[in-house]
Amino acid sequence: MMYNKKKKGMIDLLQVEHVTKRYDNILAVDDLSFTVNDGSIFGLLGENGAGKTTTFRMINNLLKMDEGKILLDGKPITYKETDKIGFLTEERSLLTKLTVKEQVIFYGILKGMDEKTILEKLDYWLERFQITEYKNRKIKELSKGNQQKVQFITAIINDPKLLILDEPFTGLDPINVELFMNVIKEFKEKKSSIIFSSHRMEHVELFCEELVILVKGKCVLQGKLKDIKKDYRKKNIHICGTIDIDKIKNLQGVLDINQTPEETIIKIASDDYIDEVFEIIKKGQNITKFSVEDPTLNEIFLNKVGEAYETKI
Ligand code: ATP
Repeated sequence: MMYNKKKKGMIDLLQVEHVTKRYDNILAVDDLSFTVNDGSIFGLLGENGAGKTTTFRMINNLLKMDEGKILLDGKPITYKETDKIGFLTEERSLLTKLTVKEQVIFYGILKGMDEKTILEKLDYWLERFQITEYKNRKIKELSKGNQQKVQFITAIINDPKLLILDEPFTGLDPINVELFMNVIKEFKEKKSSIIFSSHRMEHVELFCEELVILVKGKCVLQGKLKDIKKDYRKKNIHICGTIDIDKIKNLQGVLDINQTPEETIIKIASDDYIDEVFEIIKKGQNITKFSVEDPTLNEIFLNKVGEAYETKI
């Protein structure tokens, strides 16, 4: 069973069960199952063409799946159910001849909101994103980053229970990445669930709790980020100082050694090999750092995608 089971009587906000989607002869999503709990931040990761956008479109009822089912709050997704969803699309589908205000009203009404509520929320979010001055300006006159803020506001204007963000941080400067992240965390605190894709693993690592990695539409890794790191077993030993690299190279369990101007990083197969490495390092000179660290998500991602190709999934 690839997806989590909850206690009896409790329903996950989103259940994706054995979903398959083909475009003619391209298998874009292949028997994909996962669940997203209330108030969690979930990452859907994969290289280009892995099937993330296709999955998001099916969750939004914009695309029909060939097999499987998708349930929101225990019910199959219909047009009405999508009122509970906010979607930041990858292709940034703004109506650029409209003003910011017209655009947001248009989306809010599509989500079943009344105009008064939309305008109240719009003023709040324009202030938060520091773009109040653009309220009555045409979207095409805004910079790329500000257009992205407007797109984000359209995705959250309905206070969605499920917020889907396809590459939300692309093209943003670090200050705006932080601003977007803070708003996303606030939605989580309000018990909304967030599902997002990103190629930037350091962003995923910062605040994602659970994730799925797709390769050619198929799930190759799934679970809580902290469990994934624990199960991965490989560790990195970071050292500053002069050490006998050749002796370390010959140790069993040492997979790779990388030297940068600042430090030496020794990759080991598991923490069973730490002591032996430490014995050699103790005999080194000017040792100012010795730390054993979990692999980065980027490393796990590259490894899992590589393994999947080797086994020709
Ligand atoms: P990226 O990170 O590049 O945005 P993705 O993970 O979102 O990629 P999808 O856009 O879902 O991937 O594409 C999955 C597969 O389906 C790819 O092989 C893609 O070429 C194919 N595909 C997507 N949309 C269509 C379409 N409308 N018609 C035919 N094939 C499509």
